[in-house]
Amino acid sequence: MGTAYVYDPIYLEHNLPGHPESRERLLQIMGLLEKQGMLERLVAVEATPVSMERLTRNHSQRYVDTVRQMADRGGGHLDLDTYVGSRSYDAALMAAGGLVNAVEAVLEGEVGNAFALVRPPGHHALTARGMGFCLFNNVAVAAHYALEEKGLERVLVADFDVHHGNGTQDAFYDQASVLYFSTHQYPYYPGTGDWREIGRGEGEGYMANVPLPEGVGDEGYGRIFDEFLYPLAERYRPQLILVSAGYDAHWADPLAAMQLSLTGYTHLAQTLKAMADDLCQGKLVFTLEGGYKLEVLAYAVLNTFHALLGDEEIHDPLGPAPRSERDVGDLVDQLKGLHRLV
Ligand SMILES: [Zn+2]
Repeated sequence: MGTAYVYDPIYLEHNLPGHPESRERLLQIMGLLEKQGMLERLVAVEATPVSMERLTRNHSQRYVDTVRQMADRGGGHLDLDTYVGSRSYDAALMAAGGLVNAVEAVLEGEVGNAFALVRPPGHHALTARGMGFCLFNNVAVAAHYALEEKGLERVLVADFDVHHGNGTQDAFYDQASVLYFSTHQYPYYPGTGDWREIGRGEGEGYMANVPLPEGVGDEGYGRIFDEFLYPLAERYRPQLILVSAGYDAHWADPLAAMQLSLTGYTHLAQTLKAMADDLCQGKLVFTLEGGYKLEVLAYAVLNTFHALLGDEEIHDPLGPAPRSERDVGDLVDQLKGLHRLV
């Protein structure tokens, strides 16, 4: 069936020199994929600008206009961290549209699975406000598309970025049609993601937050995925799995304090692939969120493609975390109790 990727040079035009969420991130990724001969094994899915109808299922028209006008005036900031340049609006439309196209290709059976290599990232973007380097919430827009245009009833969004995806949580907090699972350093930016945030109304029980202390690594993440996420997903029976793939939980990342290695990250991707194969005919689409150590980011994406293709191959030039890792046994037990998995 094949594995697809989405990429477009417009993603490089959203850029602010010296900012950690820079064009260099994608340049490094594409350079390594090319050098390793990975691109020729993949199907290229074209990015197109997301339609206003699709975008405004998740964002207010007023906020969309604010971003467009800021870009038209040459740029500005939505908050201290979140810049808009003259090309950022167009790049952000193409980021959301690129991911939607990847989801469409998978749901139509044109490819088995996919990874959208898009910028700017999305999971912090709220319906009426961009924040945390994010302009439009790509994964939320794609989930709405799958639910409302493709007739799906259950979409799992798994978010292993080191930051909590507050925008994605907010978008689906009172709905059962999206099960949102997130591992994140806590307390940390953006401040949300307590384990007791489990959703509300019809959505109660469909937010699965896994707040982590500093120092959790390969073993801890592996246990959380195997012992908590997997049974949770088995019970939910998703028809599609979307992944907010952030690689800033690596031990060498400059922004956070977790202990995952490239090998540990690859095992998470392999688990998600196995889960999709078991539960939803392999329908699995990754989208790029954070990850600020450039070498880590490039190898992590390369390894993820190997996992999506079903290869065993893992590249880990940085090796295991230098420090021993924090145990998560009690947290896993608490989460299983809270979500009635015992
Ligand atoms: Zn992040």
